[in-house]
Amino acid sequence: MHKLDSIAEKVKSCQNCKLCETRTNAVPGKGNFDADVIFVGEAPGRNEDIHGEPFVGAAGKRLDMILEDTGIQRKDVYITNIVKCRPPNNRVPSKEEEEACIDFINQEIEIINPKIICVMGNTAYGTLLDGKEITKNHGKIVEKDGRKFFVTFHPAATIYNQKLIDELKEDFKKLTKFLQKDDDVKQYEERRCDFCMAKTKHEIVVIPKIVTKKRKWLYKCIECQHERWLVPYRTVAESLY
Ligand code: URA
Repeated sequence: MHKLDSIAEKVKSCQNCKLCETRTNAVPGKGNFDADVIFVGEAPGRNEDIHGEPFVGAAGKRLDMILEDTGIQRKDVYITNIVKCRPPNNRVPSKEEEEACIDFINQEIEIINPKIICVMGNTAYGTLLDGKEITKNHGKIVEKDGRKFFVTFHPAATIYNQKLIDELKEDFKKLTKFLQKDDDVKQYEERRCDFCMAKTKHEIVVIPKIVTKKRKWLYKCIECQHERWLVPYRTVAESLY
């Protein structure tokens, strides 16, 4: 089972906070497990709670429209929320609810290891970047702990506000430009996986020093998702593969 499928199973049976008592369905993240970008919203609404999928209601339609407008396909991205269960009456999730859920989003980011994380709206901005004043900071790329984040509005905020929809579209164009930059394209290497033994592509992830204190490379097997840390030189045994 892929690690993200097992996180989804844990989300579905999670009882870390009281929202499990009022939810119809918990809503795990959904999308491409190898995405270059993760979109992060606040929490499921009524439709998401019914269907168990993120962004399938009115805010989801807005998101789809803007994705289509900028040429990003939903099947290529991963979409998730800070809090995985619907707060009653769609209220803003409490700090306790966010804390009860935070491990899930951290793990989703760690496993997918995207080029950028798009934080949509105040809740995602506050929780992931300790940010305030999205109106001042939208459209910017922020770096934290060796990861890049793109700050923008929540699509639901644009439903009754034509000015915001134009600004959101402009932001998404900037995000697309960033994603198209060649120097950030994921790197792969053909090598034998010492776990499943397949000679297959491995994604090479360079983990910055701020995270590891020492620069290291992480190889992820595309076949079985096994991960292996390597110091940046090859041993004789490895060069035989
Ligand atoms: N709003 C969100 O933040 N997330 C959803 O999944 C739907 C609406």
